[in-house]
Amino acid sequence: MARYTGPVCRLCRRERTKLFLKGERCYSLKCPVSEAVTDRHSRAYPPGEHGRDRMRQGSEYLTQLREKQKARRIYGILERQFRNLYEEANHAPGITGENLLRMLELRLDNVVFRAGWGASRSQARQFVRHGHVLINGKRVTIPSYRVRKGETVTLKDASRTMFAVRRNMDTLDRQQPAWLESGDGGFAVSVLNPPLREQIDEPVQEQLIVELYSK
Ligand code: SF4
Repeated sequence: MARYTGPVCRLCRRERTKLFLKGERCYSLKCPVSEAVTDRHSRAYPPGEHGRDRMRQGSEYLTQLREKQKARRIYGILERQFRNLYEEANHAPGITGENLLRMLELRLDNVVFRAGWGASRSQARQFVRHGHVLINGKRVTIPSYRVRKGETVTLKDASRTMFAVRRNMDTLDRQQPAWLESGDGGFAVSVLNPPLREQIDEPVQEQLIVELYSK
């Protein structure tokens, strides 16, 4: 599976916002785009030699492009896959932008992240790839698998004692969304309903993405 393997903080700096791609570090003062970091140490400007030049307000196209890139980076998806998802969302009944966000939220790696087992979506993806996650009792190792209403995602018994999982569950203070129901001592989550737009708290203006792809 192709994925971005470069420095992830660079992606946040490019979007000039925190995308929470690194787990614990994102909540600390080590985050280079943290508002709490002093001006001297803050690198809250786009990366690269001309990073500071890019602080200017861009064109309408640039705004739409950046919003799409931001969404892609939050969910850790490459362009081709994101475009395919958009096409599917466009053909599904309902509002395209909301369909797209809903599909992204229902990805298995995102559900594992929302359950609080992974500190970041990339760590959640790793848990899935390494076979730690079951759906309705069967092992699924495909991070893009779309979890359906009524399905239960569980962490394998042997994986529940993993240090990373225990630490994440003990230390991360993440609110579980209302469309997921937790069970089995926090080691299982069921999808009650596909998420509504207001239940998705990512700072993405999906309408801009739709405008970009509709050109
Ligand atoms: Fe890096 Fe996380 Fe801060 Fe983004 S939010 S810049 S990934 S530490």
